[in-house]
Amino acid sequence: MANGEKQDYYELLEVNKNASETEIKKAYRRLAIKYHPDKNPGDKSAEDKFKEVSEAYEVLSDAEKRARYDQFGHAGVGGNGFNSGFNGFGNSPFGDIFGDIFGEVFGGRQKASRGKRGDDLQYNLEVTFEEAAFGAEKKIDIPYAKRCEACGGSGAKPGTQPKTCPTCQGAGQMRFQQGFFSVSKTCSHCNGEGRVVEHPCSSCRGAGTVRDKKTISVKVPAGVETGIRLKLTGEGGQGTKGGANGDLYVALSVREHPIFRREDNDVICEIPISFTQAALGCEIEVPTLDGRVNMKIPEGTQSGAIFRMRGKGVPALQGYGRGDHMVIAKVETPTNLNKQQRELLEELARISGEDVNPMGKNFFSKVMDIFS
Ligand SMILES: [Zn+2]
Ligand SMILES: [Zn+2]
Repeated sequence: MANGEKQDYYELLEVNKNASETEIKKAYRRLAIKYHPDKNPGDKSAEDKFKEVSEAYEVLSDAEKRARYDQFGHAGVGGNGFNSGFNGFGNSPFGDIFGDIFGEVFGGRQKASRGKRGDDLQYNLEVTFEEAAFGAEKKIDIPYAKRCEACGGSGAKPGTQPKTCPTCQGAGQMRFQQGFFSVSKTCSHCNGEGRVVEHPCSSCRGAGTVRDKKTISVKVPAGVETGIRLKLTGEGGQGTKGGANGDLYVALSVREHPIFRREDNDVICEIPISFTQAALGCEIEVPTLDGRVNMKIPEGTQSGAIFRMRGKGVPALQGYGRGDHMVIAKVETPTNLNKQQRELLEELARISGEDVNPMGKNFFSKVMDIFS
């Protein structure tokens, strides 16, 4: 691994490229037992091999990672941390795999009865331009599994009790000797629960939980932008059997504003002004995040000129202060002139020495100049 030359994951697991999930799991289980540190105490090469096959399994057992690996090889699945800091058993990112496989194979030492952490959930929340700028308190509905009230969570029909599993006598595990291993397997009759429900509760169909929604309040801080994720610790899926709850991630997207646009913490807006306002100068009202503000347009303003109002933009998400509000003047050419307006503009053109009749002599002489 250290020299960067890695063996092909399929070769490591001794399966072909079309192997099914079950085949991959079986192959890994076989090899993991063969090279497991418990079975090869002090054997460094077995330990390395164990890590390699575990890494291969970590990728090939995950449909998404496997697809990336098939397409890009090791480069497609490296760099996301799964192969760094792997120290064999215990405090590794492989907890779930070990729970899954070794929980069965080495049931005695693994987390047979340990709780399972709830899922992390993501909620996509759209906020308005102003809410993103100044922050907001939003209420969102999160679906979750609630304890069934009818049966108190037991899954058994009210008035009845779940009874001890007759197959495993309530242990949840079946234990037997295989070679020099003591192997225990999850009881298939009760799925490791140790109890079976004979008469299921009709409200939850025996699950002990029902789907429900909870409304939670999300504090959106001022200055957020599309793509920012807020983390609400413990608001994700419920853990089971005492496991911790998962986390809730709220992914923000900011709705487009009809006139404002944002660049970092600056707000930009285009304001149409007439060509006489631009030429003569004027005072206009412009919209800002703080409401309407009067602004002076100096005489001789060109289309595209930018006027900056300091500190009227979006508050910084981290740190202090606010961005600026920028007004871009958009000079509009007058249209639909009435007779008097036309005469005045023609007069203006005449005294400015401009020829406004395209069919005039000047026009033809210019054309002749180009072609001569
Ligand atoms: Zn059982
Ligand atoms: Zn119930």
